[in-house]
Amino acid sequence: MKIKDILHEAHRPFPSIEIVPPLKGISRAELVESVRPFMEFSPRYINVTCHRDEYEYRQEADGSLTRHIVRNKVSEVAVCTALMSAYKIDVVPHVICGGNTAADVENKLSDLRFLGVENIMALRGDSVAGERRFVPCEGGYRYAGELVEAVRRFEQSRDLFCIGVGGYPEKHFEAPNIETDIENLRRKVDAGADYIITQMFFDNSVYYRFVDRCRAAGITVPVIPGLKPITSSRQISLLPQAFSIDIPVELTSELNAAGEDHEAVYRIGTDWCIAQCRDLLAHGVPAVHFYTMGKAGNVVRILRECF
Ligand code: FAD
Repeated sequence: MKIKDILHEAHRPFPSIEIVPPLKGISRAELVESVRPFMEFSPRYINVTCHRDEYEYRQEADGSLTRHIVRNKVSEVAVCTALMSAYKIDVVPHVICGGNTAADVENKLSDLRFLGVENIMALRGDSVAGERRFVPCEGGYRYAGELVEAVRRFEQSRDLFCIGVGGYPEKHFEAPNIETDIENLRRKVDAGADYIITQMFFDNSVYYRFVDRCRAAGITVPVIPGLKPITSSRQISLLPQAFSIDIPVELTSELNAAGEDHEAVYRIGTDWCIAQCRDLLAHGVPAVHFYTMGKAGNVVRILRECF
């Protein structure tokens, strides 16, 4: 079923789960078991992230350097196939511009269609190690909006895929200002995106302001908030660096006060996320998206408390 129809028909807000494909070596049964804790909450679908191939250079016997693709993770298509078959659940594979030519994207869409996948998240992807800024693949797409257009072209008016795109309540780090970023978000929606999932945030007022700005800019599609519970004190500096987001001073102080008490940090992060989630639900959000990053325990507790 398409996410836009699930959103349309839902009588109350529901949780959605995002997982990262595991490292290679995991068995299909282990992957399926790692997701089982979420099944208690009957999620309507599961998002599966997609990651760009990295390269490494190896010195050959003759002294020359050769470039090799390093694919550490199970592919998102393989993960989606395993989840669909084990749980009869809808999946939302992420499709990225980075590292893909237009033909690669078409091939992926053909495979997804063949598998009966009806939803995708269309994203640009980030730069990889060694790139100062994002460089599109030769013959590929520069912006997620171009990818959305490509999916709609591929469909030839057959309405095959429901398309989600990313939105940034605290502005995408490359955008000169939030107004320009929202204008670019509007272009993605105009190109055919059906809904938006936000980057994680830790202060709900940032999300509410963002939704108001989107509506003022003429963006009418659902804007699903994305949450991630903090699990370690390292994340106080890592998350702002990696995602260009702020962590509110109250949360930072609580986490700092917990110091090296890992259990306390974990509990504070989880409780903060529960409070955020309850407040979002009270404000009538259509769904709440959880970035699980391979950890079920805290998200399961949050889902038990909130849904
Ligand atoms: P875009 O929408 O292309 O925007 C990128 C920048 O370009 C922004 O600054 C924007 O303002 C600007 N821009 C957009 N369109 C135009 C235009 N037409 N002209 C000029 N400027 C423009 N990354 C992964 O690698 N794999 C994943 O699975 C993944 N999942 C994600 C899921 C969610 C919900 C979110 C929010 C992000 C995810 N990301 C993922 C990260 C994402 O790839 C990065 O944040 C990336 O830097 C931007 O992606 P985007 O699709 O938002 O890009």
